[in-house]
Amino acid sequence: MIVNMSSIATVEEIDHVIERIQECGFQAHVIQGTERTVIGAVGSSDRRAELQALRAAPGVEEVIQIAHPFKLVSRQLRQRSTVVSVGGVEIGAGDLVVMAGPCSVESREQLLQTARAVKAAGADMLRGGAYKPRTSPYDFQGLGVAALRILKEASDETALPIVTEVMSEADVEIVAEYADMLQIGARNMQNFSLLRKLARFKRPILLKRGPSATIKEWLLAAEYLLAGGNANVVLCERGIKTFETATRNTLDLSAVALVKELSHLPVIADPSHGTGLRSLVSPMSKAAVAAGADGLMVEVHPCPERALSDGPQSLDLPGFAEMMKDLGSRRLREMMAA
Ligand code: PEP
Ligand code: MN
Repeated sequence: MIVNMSSIATVEEIDHVIERIQECGFQAHVIQGTERTVIGAVGSSDRRAELQALRAAPGVEEVIQIAHPFKLVSRQLRQRSTVVSVGGVEIGAGDLVVMAGPCSVESREQLLQTARAVKAAGADMLRGGAYKPRTSPYDFQGLGVAALRILKEASDETALPIVTEVMSEADVEIVAEYADMLQIGARNMQNFSLLRKLARFKRPILLKRGPSATIKEWLLAAEYLLAGGNANVVLCERGIKTFETATRNTLDLSAVALVKELSHLPVIADPSHGTGLRSLVSPMSKAAVAAGADGLMVEVHPCPERALSDGPQSLDLPGFAEMMKDLGSRRLREMMAA
C-alpha cells in the first residue's frame, strides 16, 4: 500500500501514519518528495484493511494499492529515478556509464594492460571476474583473492572503480574489502540467502538477470535487497535463454525499456553475454542505449584468442576503443540534434 500524505501534512501526522503502519505489522518506508511525503507500507499481515482505513487519518490524501508484487523497487512508490553512486561514478544520473574489462582476471599484466586501455578509451568502471561461475568444473575457476588484489592495484592506478562478482555467501566479506560494487551473477539471481546477506552490506550491487528469469522474478530478487536495507541496486540485462541457438543468449532489450517503466532503479545492458558474439557487441550497445539503458557492461581482452573464458565475445583493445568512439560520436549527434 502507498499512503500519499497531503502537501500540508504536519510532522506529527506523518509520524502517526508511520506508527499505525508498524502497529498493523508492516514496514514503513518513507519517501520524502520535494512537494509531499509518500509512505510505503510493505510486508504481510492480515491487518491490510486497517491500512485502507488510514484514508480517514489527518494529513492523508489517499491510500493506493501497489499494483505489482514488487513494492520497494516499483516506480509507483518512488517516481524519481534512483541514482547509484559507485566510487564517484553516478549510475542513472543521465550519462551513459561503461564498465569494461576481461571476463576473468588471468594475470597482473593482462589486467593492468586492459585497465589502462579501457581507461584511455573512456570507460568509467573496471570489471573482471575473480570468482568465476563456470558451466564445467574443469574450466578455469578464477584466481580468487589474488585476482582481487590485482583489481585493486589496477583501480588505484587508473582511478576506475571496480565491479566484480561475489559467488558465495562465504566470500562476501573478502570481495567487499576490495570491490566498489558487488556483482550478483545471473546464476545466483535467486540465491535468496546470498541476496539477504548482501542486503545487509551497504555496498552497491549489480544484479544480473537470471538466464531463465522473468522480469517479475528479476524485480522480486531486487526487492530482497531493498527490503533488507540496501537501496543501491543496479539491474543488468545479460540475455535470456530462448529457442535461438545462433547467439549464446537473446539480449532482451524490451526488458530494459520495460524495467525503466516499472522500476526507479538504474538498468544497464551486457551485450557480451547477451549475444556471445564479438561482432554484435557494438551494434547491440547502441541498441541498448536507444532502449534507455543507463550503462553498458562489456568484456574486453588484450588477446581474445588466448582468453581463459569468453574469448569469442570479448572485444580486443582497439575494438573497444572503436566502439567507444562510435558511441561517443552518436552521443554528440544526439546532443546536436536536440
Ligand atoms: C560475467 O559477468 O562474467 C558473468 C559470468 O556474467 P553472467 O552472470 O551474466 O553469466
Ligand atoms: Mn564472461
